[in-house]
Amino acid sequence: MIVYEFKVKGKPYQYKAIDEAIRTAQFVRNSCLRYWIDNRGLGRKELYRYNTELRAMYPFVKDLNSHACQASVERCWSAIARFFDNCKKRCDPAPSQGASGQTPAIFNRPGNADQEKERAPREKIPGKKGYPRFKKNSRSVEYKQSGWKLLDPKQIEFTDKKGIGKLKLVGTWDLAFYPVERIKRVRLVRRADGYYVQFCIQVDVKIETKPTGKTIGLDVGLKEFYTDSNNNTEPNPRFYRKSEKQLSFYQRRVSRKNIGSANRLKAIKRLGKVHLKISRQREEHAKKIARCVIQSNDLVAYEDLRIKNLVKNHCLAKSINDAGWYQFRKWLEYFGNKFGRVTVAVNPAYTSQNCSSCGTIVKKSLSTRTHVCQCGCELDRDHNAAINILNSACPFT
Ligand SMILES: [Zn+2]
Repeated sequence: MIVYEFKVKGKPYQYKAIDEAIRTAQFVRNSCLRYWIDNRGLGRKELYRYNTELRAMYPFVKDLNSHACQASVERCWSAIARFFDNCKKRCDPAPSQGASGQTPAIFNRPGNADQEKERAPREKIPGKKGYPRFKKNSRSVEYKQSGWKLLDPKQIEFTDKKGIGKLKLVGTWDLAFYPVERIKRVRLVRRADGYYVQFCIQVDVKIETKPTGKTIGLDVGLKEFYTDSNNNTEPNPRFYRKSEKQLSFYQRRVSRKNIGSANRLKAIKRLGKVHLKISRQREEHAKKIARCVIQSNDLVAYEDLRIKNLVKNHCLAKSINDAGWYQFRKWLEYFGNKFGRVTVAVNPAYTSQNCSSCGTIVKKSLSTRTHVCQCGCELDRDHNAAINILNSACPFT
């Protein structure tokens, strides 16, 4: 699957119609969830049936394309299924380790099933099973293969009764290259700087590459973006810190305006744009580095970090979110799949404490930057960790 994204241009009434469609999709999802909570033991089929009832009850639900409504039911169901999955995993002591050649998590939302799956089950944290929640601020609505039509050139028309109509597509992708049947999903997304449409196209993007004969272990850190097992480092861009001044400037503007005023809304919009810009920079950076690493190695090993747990440490939270490890890992797995490389997530326990040449445990605190062992091994702390990560991914090399 690949995703092509275009910005859309339309009239204000069309944007309103998109908002209305997004609200309806959220309504369907939340109603199904409510129904499931009130009537335990319901399956997917019952939710579909309930969707039909909703369409009969509310005209505004009926106005949204029926397959788009189904897509919302599916979203609800996947949240429920993920919850059940987590409950089962937490009770099951069998460890689920490693991830290689996984399907890209590009079309999923952050915090998706893949991420949950790899969390080791020995952590029995109460209230951490991901009980499905009601959505308050949906930003997108998903159509399947009906309810829209591609018009020549670079125009899309939404044909359901939400009144979105014809939208101009702004972007350089060539959609005509793929047959229309290959477009499995069309999503309308609202962001701080406007509206976007995403086309999810089914294609097998596997690129044959020659083996490089190289393997690598990566230790992600706060000081450097990563240190690899050959002691090369990639500097940390720290977009967030750089833009922090700008952020606090616009944040202050928001807090100075009266609550509920039009000026406050305007200021919030402006602040949203800064956040959007930073998150785009982070994504681009992670993608660029991940592609580079994957193309020059046959096997890439990295720590199976539970970022959510790390972020709980308040002092480090900002830097950790800023570093964009989650995005980095997502792109590593995506490119690994695309270029036929192996990616391994290894257990992060003791990677920094163990000696990479003899295996004894050398205790050190976070501030100790070098690893010094009795066996004569003296390495940079992160370099030592990167070698350990590589060793636990393939112990025979
Ligand atoms: Zn040693």
